[in-house]
Amino acid sequence: MRVFNFAAGPSTLPLPVLEQAQKELLDYNNTGMSIIEMSHRGKPFMAVNDEANQLLRELMNIPDDYSVLFVQGGATQQFAAVPLNLLKNGKADYILTGNFAAKAYEEGTKYGDMAIAASSKDAGYTFIPDMKDVKFRDGIDYVHTTYNNTIFGTRYTELPKTDATLVTDMSSCILSEVVDVSKFGLIYAGAQKNIAPAGLTIVIVKKELLGNASPICPVMLNYAVQDKNNSLYNTPPCFPIYMSLLVFRWLKAMGGVPVMQKINEEKAKLLYGFIDNSSFYKNKVAVKDRSIMNVPFITPNEELDAKFVSEATKNGLVSLKGHRLAGGMRASIYNAMPIEGVKALIDFMKKFELENK
Ligand SMILES: *Cc1c(COP(=O)(O)O)cnc(C)c1O
Repeated sequence: MRVFNFAAGPSTLPLPVLEQAQKELLDYNNTGMSIIEMSHRGKPFMAVNDEANQLLRELMNIPDDYSVLFVQGGATQQFAAVPLNLLKNGKADYILTGNFAAKAYEEGTKYGDMAIAASSKDAGYTFIPDMKDVKFRDGIDYVHTTYNNTIFGTRYTELPKTDATLVTDMSSCILSEVVDVSKFGLIYAGAQKNIAPAGLTIVIVKKELLGNASPICPVMLNYAVQDKNNSLYNTPPCFPIYMSLLVFRWLKAMGGVPVMQKINEEKAKLLYGFIDNSSFYKNKVAVKDRSIMNVPFITPNEELDAKFVSEATKNGLVSLKGHRLAGGMRASIYNAMPIEGVKALIDFMKKFELENK
């Protein structure tokens, strides 16, 4: 029996995608082998790689003057790859809205003169700083943001006011809502949250930013090299790329990102609405900055939090424990989480409240 899996990442995948992968695992397209047993330079895999790239472009409406790269190392590797590729003047500004943003900043300081333009750390990362008030230094090469903050459950609704290149980490929200790619110089995302199994990282980068990598930039992190080689400079993560293709096809058949955004907003509205109307559960995030992907919440005390997680698990609602930095619970309600999962969670929350008030 499949459970409703609220894990933050790796996370739940669409059932039809898993079923198709299962069906094709022993014999992909009459080749007599699976897609993960064949050369990445052979026709079948090259077709998968190309179609996945093309479909992501279509789904996100990515302009032609952007490259779409499939790389490895996770979003964490991008914390280094971004400065190694984009620094020309040697300095950049970061906005700290969570643990991953802080890690990106810290990694960046190894490569250049980095500054924190704004931070919500002192408030436990419960809001996104007001972009109207954020000032940046002159001559910076980029501003780094974390669009959706997976651990603390916040998301940007307004972009920084700057002429510098805008870089954003969309690991936990890529393809969840319509985004104007042209506003960004670079978008990156680990695939294991809202797309595919772990092992693949998506980089969407404006072509004019390519070709300035630092001489010490490892070849694998050099965007221009990956771009020139169609992301096949070395052996790529074949399985996650194939799974991404299946997810992209599924997403397109669902109606694409605008339809998915509506569903995601409906799911989030149901869950936040229930929490706000309850005197038992609480979400600490500023209402205007609430994530539609990751919903943290608490009960009146830590003992009840632990009991909640344990009893939810027994009821087929799993991986609801919050990140150790945030405590409490967190429901990650990515694209692949059906609205039925959110309704089942709310029903359980009602029952738990009645029994433990
Ligand atoms: C999960 C996550 C990361 C880290 O991703 P890895 O692929 O594990 O390196 C970075 N940023 C955000 C926003 C995340 O949610």
